[in-house]
Amino acid sequence: MSQHKYLLPEDQMPTQWYNIVPDLPEPPAPALHPGTLEPAGPDDFAPLFPMDLIMQEVTQESYVEIPEEVQEIYKIWRPSPLFRARRLEKLLDTPAKIFYKYEGVSPAGSHKPNTSVPQAYYNAKAGVRKLTTETGAGQWGSSLAFACAQFGIECEVWQVAASYKLKPYRKTMMEVWGATVHPSPSDITDFGRSLLAENPDHTGSLGIAISEAVSEAAPHDDVRYALGSVLNHVLMHQTIIGEEALLQMEMAGETPDLLVGCTGGGSNFGGLSFPFLREKLKGNMNPTIRCVEPAACPTLTKGEFRYDFGDSAGMTPLMKMHTLGHNFVPDPIHAGGLRYHGMSPLVSHIYELGLVEAISIGQTECFTGALQFAKTEGIVPAPEPTHAIAAAIREANKAKETGEETVILTALCGHGHLDLASYEAFLSGEMIDYDLSDAAIAEAMAEVPQIS
Ligand SMILES: *Cc1c(COP(=O)(O)O)cnc(C)c1O
Repeated sequence: MSQHKYLLPEDQMPTQWYNIVPDLPEPPAPALHPGTLEPAGPDDFAPLFPMDLIMQEVTQESYVEIPEEVQEIYKIWRPSPLFRARRLEKLLDTPAKIFYKYEGVSPAGSHKPNTSVPQAYYNAKAGVRKLTTETGAGQWGSSLAFACAQFGIECEVWQVAASYKLKPYRKTMMEVWGATVHPSPSDITDFGRSLLAENPDHTGSLGIAISEAVSEAAPHDDVRYALGSVLNHVLMHQTIIGEEALLQMEMAGETPDLLVGCTGGGSNFGGLSFPFLREKLKGNMNPTIRCVEPAACPTLTKGEFRYDFGDSAGMTPLMKMHTLGHNFVPDPIHAGGLRYHGMSPLVSHIYELGLVEAISIGQTECFTGALQFAKTEGIVPAPEPTHAIAAAIREANKAKETGEETVILTALCGHGHLDLASYEAFLSGEMIDYDLSDAAIAEAMAEVPQIS
């Protein structure tokens, strides 16, 4: 049988998100108030998020119902397809079976609308007039712009200056959906102005853009902030990916031996893997689960597990997570969505518990794999998931040596139609791998608060 595509009927779309926290052998450490260093309570988050999302952030329920209004919008593109990469397998001449869950079918072209839609929904329900946010490559900003348009609320985005210049079409996409976009650092916020005074050509970072978006939201009652990754509620919204993939792997009659996902803040990885990790903890399957991060921003493999700020200015609550330091500015790799100094506290915690493993890969190996993938499977991947593809190809090559029929499942979390400048850089031989020195990490870590 040559089946290569597994589609779920619309009426089989999961109607609940999965919260992995109650199933873990130990609970993750709480976020801390940046001033008192006491565990942050719901009120500490209230200037940033509506109460429904704050309660989801700390919920002990295993499942949360997806509101009907959100399900209706999900159905524009969900359930998303699961593919078996038979043509890539053939090219690699491997006995491995490679499956990929494709999230590029969403309006914004990535997995991000799985959380932007519920976030805009709960904010609109709470009477919020405007959402602010940061964006790197522009995937999150465009996803939130789309979601805000669905619920009739305003959207203001700070886009990392390097990406603002390199990826102008994402900005246009945000504007098409009605958002206002600023390069970050911007001259609109105090923090942005102070950075521009030091360096007018500042290329920005996600941490800086978060500070700017937060500083615009916190003082206003009718403005809130939305984060596209990292937080528990974001990862929970993304679990619809894994819940669907579980059903689709069943349709394919296969159980994964290995899950691989790229990790920037951990949301597409957590979204795919947490439902499978639940099944693993229950003893129903035993896949190896592997995070793949860029060699230029190796948060899990080289960062420390300790309390740090989510943003560069130190305005957010402190989170216990793998971090390279909140002032770490990664080299300008093409996978803009993976250039974050921290990692989701939940993914960090699960990594510390030994439930998942992590590797890092340089970008030229990733794009080499992306071309093999695009030429065989047809889809041009976003730069971020090329990390997962490269890891899957490594494993498929290993299977070729051992002759094992390893079943690999990966998240193809977005397409690269607006990232063609990156492909051009690779094809013209201009793309380089960055060597991240231990000294650069130590320098940024020196500014992380000392909290035992
Ligand atoms: C934002 C983004 C990422 C990184 O974020 P995660 O939270 O780690 O998923 C990865 N891939 C794509 C396509 C993105 O848009």
